Amino acid sequence: MKLRTWNTATKEYTEVNPINHDGIIRIYNCGPTVYSTPHIGNIRRFIVADLLVKTLVHLGYTVRSVMNITDVGHLMDSDHAEAGADKMLIAAEREKLTPEIIAAKYTQEFFAILNQVRAEPANFYPRATMHVPAMIEVIKNLISNGFAYETNSGIYFDVTKFSNYGNLSGNTTAEVEPGARIGIREEKRHAFDFVLWVKAEKEHLMQWDSPWGRGYPGWHIECSAMAQHLLGESIDIHTGGIDNMFPHHENEIAQSEGASGKKFANIWVHNEHLLVDGKKMAKSAGTFITLDEIIKRGYSPLAFKFLLFQTHYRSKLNFIWSAMDSASDGLKGIQNFVDKIIALTVRETDDGLLNSANEINSEEYSKKFANALANDLGTPQAIALVFEIIRKFNPLLESNGLSKQEGIKILELFRSFDKVFGMISFAEQEKTTVTKEVADLVSMREKARQEKNYTLSDELRKQIIDKGFDVKDSANGQQLTPIK
Ligand SMILES: [Zn+2]
Repeated sequence: MKLRTWNTATKEYTEVNPINHDGIIRIYNCGPTVYSTPHIGNIRRFIVADLLVKTLVHLGYTVRSVMNITDVGHLMDSDHAEAGADKMLIAAEREKLTPEIIAAKYTQEFFAILNQVRAEPANFYPRATMHVPAMIEVIKNLISNGFAYETNSGIYFDVTKFSNYGNLSGNTTAEVEPGARIGIREEKRHAFDFVLWVKAEKEHLMQWDSPWGRGYPGWHIECSAMAQHLLGESIDIHTGGIDNMFPHHENEIAQSEGASGKKFANIWVHNEHLLVDGKKMAKSAGTFITLDEIIKRGYSPLAFKFLLFQTHYRSKLNFIWSAMDSASDGLKGIQNFVDKIIALTVRETDDGLLNSANEINSEEYSKKFANALANDLGTPQAIALVFEIIRKFNPLLESNGLSKQEGIKILELFRSFDKVFGMISFAEQEKTTVTKEVADLVSMREKARQEKNYTLSDELRKQIIDKGFDVKDSANGQQLTPIK
């Protein structure tokens, strides 16, 4: 099945077909600037990037994906060499650490977050500081192709030379230039011109040799150079947050196409903002929420992922804490169902009723699931399908009307769904098989408890423990956990 995705560059749905001869889908994702803890809006972006790759793989594509790690050059004002310091250096000063240690610290934290939300690693995580020579090469090409010029402060891209500038974002140079002229530094030719290479002061930390003297790269050039270096001149899909569309992605296109003369990205996929209480997150307003904060309040990072998937990635999502409660309940509903199915499948005997009316048509559900995702990553529809299956089969499961064979099929189906979702646990319950003997002891104990015969209940519990299982009483009945 082919993925059809909304292309923010052409403003239309586009079927994903490989543009290179080897048939591999090349994806470049704008990654984190490793200078502080990301907020949950950044995490939405990483999860959407992961969802895209997993969906493509699920649909049968071969994918090569890159997510960069920006550890130099992301200036507070990303277009001016003179205005705004490097975010890495501001963090280094704030935390009294070197920029290298800041980068290592927040890179490690970034990977820990990916792990917590069960995002698969991309194929490559290039560090900007390790690709400076590739950036210098792109800048050299831009100068020789007439797109860039040198000033006393650095090398700038001349946006007026690139006729397609503004096509992605709709910000045309003609519209904005007159009013913005006041803010232009004397050396910069046009308001939209942006810095490619910054000439560094002697004492500036993190600087490299270049044909234009010691300095460091601008932020935008990093993505163009790393994408080209690792994926080639033309890539299939470029992803990022909608807030990066201008100027960052607009500038990436100008640089990449200006240097190579070829189309840079075939499809652009942008996810919408995540707002908190209807506003953009801000530390000062106390609306800057991190994954740690979610965990501290007792929610699972995967419940946050479930919350994200309930909303389409191109819709704005307004985060409110009460939504985490229902997301938690929703995910627990799926997990409980899966736990019960696992318990059914590991039984030694199959005493569920085999009835043709209770059979699950896995093929049909698989198709519906793939269809939902193939339609521009329709996670809300995919989740609705999961609940449709639960609503249909849970009553059968409860009334012992589901055979073990059907249970195995349902489990396989949910496993294939979770290769995309990454939020269901299949592990714990499967480590040890619940034998018929243990299952009988459990039901005897259930009966004893109903009859308030606690002496017998305790005796049976001991016997269950002897068989290798701990048994706990919960609102959902007795729960078995294998003793390690
Ligand atoms: Zn980027």
